Amino acid sequence: MALFRSDSVDAPTLEVTSQMIGNPIEEARFQLESAIETHFDAVHRPLSRFDVDEKFNPAEFDDPTSIRDVAYDSDSECYEAERLIRIGEIGEGMKTITITDLPIYHKRRNNIFGMSYLAGDISLVTTAEFYEDGQWTDQSSEWMRNEVIKLMGQMLGVADCTTEGCVMQYTGNKQALSELDEYICGECCETIGEEHLR
Ligand SMILES: [Zn+2]
Repeated sequence: MALFRSDSVDAPTLEVTSQMIGNPIEEARFQLESAIETHFDAVHRPLSRFDVDEKFNPAEFDDPTSIRDVAYDSDSECYEAERLIRIGEIGEGMKTITITDLPIYHKRRNNIFGMSYLAGDISLVTTAEFYEDGQWTDQSSEWMRNEVIKLMGQMLGVADCTTEGCVMQYTGNKQALSELDEYICGECCETIGEEHLR
């Protein structure tokens, strides 16, 4: 029997899962999913939610512990991004975005919205900084979307871009993040690969 390339040729090759730590607002989760599906040819699947105080067994610890025990830093009153990003069910061959409402910090960076590893499989975004006077606004949603697109790009190999207006530009504050317009420049598209883009 001849083997033909199956119908699945047209199916997205990219699988993105998201998981929650804490209680990120539903609107933020919606924006995450929508940002992925608008720009990337990817299947998105939401996974588990982890409670901050729930005891679990992370690989590198002998005893059950909680996310608060593992990642909370009392000096900064924030959670260590590098710890949070590694928690959970990270599937082989897929990209995982962890979304949290916890404030995060990173020792070597001042980008406080999220982190990822260049061309890696895991990333983290927090909604904590996106509230305006305690409210989730349209602007909050825009920040969320831009950050998610950026994290996706980074996981797909895009380092900080220097093209004016490109969403992959380095943004160390919300003002800079506001000035982006969900635009992915040609060079970044090339790095990401047309097959992963819509
Ligand atoms: Zn770019």
